Amino acid sequence: MTPKTFKIKSFGCQMNVYDGERMAELLTEQGMSAVDEGADAELVVLNTCHIREKAAEKAYSDVGRLRREDGSKPLIALAGCVAQAEGAEAQRRSPMIDIVVGPQAYHRLPQMVAEATRGARPVDTDLPPLSKFGAFPLRRRANPSAFLTVQEGCDKFCTYCVVPYTRGAEISRPWSDIVDEAQALVDAGAREIVLLGQNVNAWEHEDRGLADLIRALARIDGLERIRYTTSHPVNMSDDLIAAHGEVKKLMPYLHLPVQSGSNRILKAMNRSHTADSYLATIEKVRSARPDIALSGDFIVGFPGESEEDFEATLQIVDAVRYASAYSFKYSARPGTPAASMEDQIPREVMDDRLQRLQSRINEHRLAFNRSAVGIETEVLIERSGRHDGQMIGRSPWLQSVHVDTSAAPGEIVDVTLVAAGPNSMTGAVRQEVAA
Ligand code: SAM
Ligand code: SF4
Repeated sequence: MTPKTFKIKSFGCQMNVYDGERMAELLTEQGMSAVDEGADAELVVLNTCHIREKAAEKAYSDVGRLRREDGSKPLIALAGCVAQAEGAEAQRRSPMIDIVVGPQAYHRLPQMVAEATRGARPVDTDLPPLSKFGAFPLRRRANPSAFLTVQEGCDKFCTYCVVPYTRGAEISRPWSDIVDEAQALVDAGAREIVLLGQNVNAWEHEDRGLADLIRALARIDGLERIRYTTSHPVNMSDDLIAAHGEVKKLMPYLHLPVQSGSNRILKAMNRSHTADSYLATIEKVRSARPDIALSGDFIVGFPGESEEDFEATLQIVDAVRYASAYSFKYSARPGTPAASMEDQIPREVMDDRLQRLQSRINEHRLAFNRSAVGIETEVLIERSGRHDGQMIGRSPWLQSVHVDTSAAPGEIVDVTLVAAGPNSMTGAVRQEVAA
């Protein structure tokens, strides 16, 4: 019997969140309804991430937990990057998995569900670029801050990373599809759009780049804020940097991963930038938009990383003074060049470096937040807070801001930032400026 209810569990990056929303729309269009708890759903989609350690093992144990007390189980679809990497092997390792669907095949999910209900065990891990986007229905629901994938895949082949293998080659969605989807999101209530891509700033279509796209989206009435993530330093064009100075709706925030501060390690990572070229880019961005909040990604314990290399990473953190940053222990990914490099770093060394790096990043984050106290700014309200009358929203610099206000999600309130913590700010309403 065709399932009537479904639950999609998305792990990992924002692009998975976007894909999860789109799969939900597809299934809803087929007459199924979403339920909150996996245990109640007749179909469960596990939208997995493969970027770090034990991703596959975690996915298989999540599958195992879907067995109900009476021994029955829902229809199970393994989606996302683990599905892409494991393919049909997934069903050999876990016979509970009915469907294996890779990130470029989601448009076939309803058909695969129908096949599975007839007893088949469909697997689709083809990588036909862009087919899925054409099959997704028009957006009818949107959060105040909505994701919009504009670019997928990666041709950069950093030596530690699985993305080029699980998401396929770099591909940009066409201009008009994106503008139409952005308009639909705004019509559905979005006030902010976050453009997504594995290398979002590599987006291009008919000689136009991301800066042109941002300028066009900024003309949409009702859209108040634009962000984009994740960018690669080598694709940070002068035009995109200039847009940060010109386009009012483009928020003063940039996530620009550097991974390491050591040129020797950056070379071994195949990052195609150096610490100095990265810092030069940051300087240009800061002269276009002096108040920009900078964020980044770091990997500690890449094979061969010496204490001196790690010190260079701490130095780049101090030089940039990140407003926030993500840091990870290197995880050997099967099939990537770095996994077979000599001199893999012992776990205790990685633990120690990660802890030192994170405490340095936290110092800068707190300093950034403290420097914002007293600033008058706007907060886009996203959801209710813990206390009665408290709402949580975002500042232009992506800080989470707690505000006592009667404003609803989607409204923009004019606040003074009055207090700073390591993870959030407190804002006091001055007046409500936009409905
Ligand atoms: N394309 C983006 C870029 O190059 O900055 C990032 C994509 S990746 C999904 C997000 C982050 O995961 C990377 O920036 C990197 O810091 C981290 N990452 C990727 N592979 C990793 C690995 N094998 N071990 C640890 N962290 C990893
Ligand atoms: Fe992975 Fe590097 Fe591509 Fe980012 S640029 S997705 S880290 S291969």
